[in-house]
Amino acid sequence: MMLEENISLKQLTTFGCDEIGRYFTRITTAAALTEAINWCDEKHLPFLVIGTGSNILFTKPFEGLILKMGITGINKTNETATDVFLTVGAGENWHHFVSYCVQKSWGGIENLSLIPGTVGASPIQNIGAYGVEVQECIESVTAFDTHTKTWITLNNNQCAFGYRNSLFKKEKNRYLITTVQFVLKKQAQLRTDYGSIKEKLHEKNIKNPSLADLSNAIIQIRTSKLPDPATLGNAGSFFKNPSINKINFEKLKLKFPEMIAYPISDDTYKLAAGWLIEDCGWKGVRKGNVGCFDKQSLVLVNYGQATGKEIYDFSEEIIQSVLAKFDVLLEREVNIL
Ligand SMILES: Cc1cc2nc3c(=O)[nH]c(=O)nc-3n(C[C@H](O)[C@H](O)[C@H](O)COP(=O)(O)OP(=O)(O)OC[C@H]3O[C@@H](n4cnc5c(N)ncnc54)[C@H](O)[C@@H]3O)c2cc1C
Repeated sequence: MMLEENISLKQLTTFGCDEIGRYFTRITTAAALTEAINWCDEKHLPFLVIGTGSNILFTKPFEGLILKMGITGINKTNETATDVFLTVGAGENWHHFVSYCVQKSWGGIENLSLIPGTVGASPIQNIGAYGVEVQECIESVTAFDTHTKTWITLNNNQCAFGYRNSLFKKEKNRYLITTVQFVLKKQAQLRTDYGSIKEKLHEKNIKNPSLADLSNAIIQIRTSKLPDPATLGNAGSFFKNPSINKINFEKLKLKFPEMIAYPISDDTYKLAAGWLIEDCGWKGVRKGNVGCFDKQSLVLVNYGQATGKEIYDFSEEIIQSVLAKFDVLLEREVNIL
């Protein structure tokens, strides 16, 4: 095992905060993963698998071993008249995988174009965008179970996917994912009815979009709305959209008729966290090195030298002000360490 010691985590997360990691190694095989975990067990050290660090905020030094997932490969394992089955290494770049499938005309994940990160992290918070969640195309996930020290393959149901959630997020750090098995469609039903996709296609005068047209439209929308982590540190949406019951929703709607919300069941409503934050006056606010992005208030940004603690404290101020005004508790989407 090639170990590095006392490395800066600045380049390893998209927030770009300069904390220290005690030990660091790259993982390119399943055997290397178990060897690294055995090493941690012997030394009684904590461990953390990371992809591109686009959903992590380090608020203090990490006193254990960071394993950078680098298992790659996209393999077609089966196909039928309608479906294509793929096994993909956890270290593959997510957008590269989406582009590969779009190019082959295999549909299902095109709405998830340009989401930063790795394939192995995609099931963790069940990544989603533009009306699609990755769970819709995941057949199974293969992982090392660090509790039982065995390799397991969990089918879609066993992954317990939910909104920005899964078994892997609930049982944090237990399952170390090495491959994800996907099933994609040869004749895809395109999903163009979400957000500004239709407007973008209309603007480009595209009436019968292909998978590539849809993917390109989403890339353009995302590029115009979200900060590029290469120039402005961030981790995408910092908060989840909260759910509340119908009685509380109706009370709030009376008081705040402009509030953006939509029903997700007979008794539950999802509120747009971005609207709540904006209504509390946070959009575009900057405090020192941290800010609430001026084009999308769900996104917190690092203007250069912010520490993870500063970003965390700023997020706490937002949570408290939303709680005081709406009596709604926001939950962080980003993994705090
Ligand atoms: C600009 C921007 C836009 C974004 N837009 C979206 C969006 O539209 N939708 C969305 O859902 N997310 C979005 N995100 C969040 C992020 O891209 C996703 O959560 C992504 O899946 C994280 O991938 P990663 O490889 O960077 O994971 P990391 O940030 O490295 O890790 C995230 C978590 O997963 C764990 N983990 C990572 N890999 C493994 C593995 N192989 N096995 C076990 N655990 C693992 C880590 O320990 C950590 O807890 C956005 C982020 C940014 C910066």
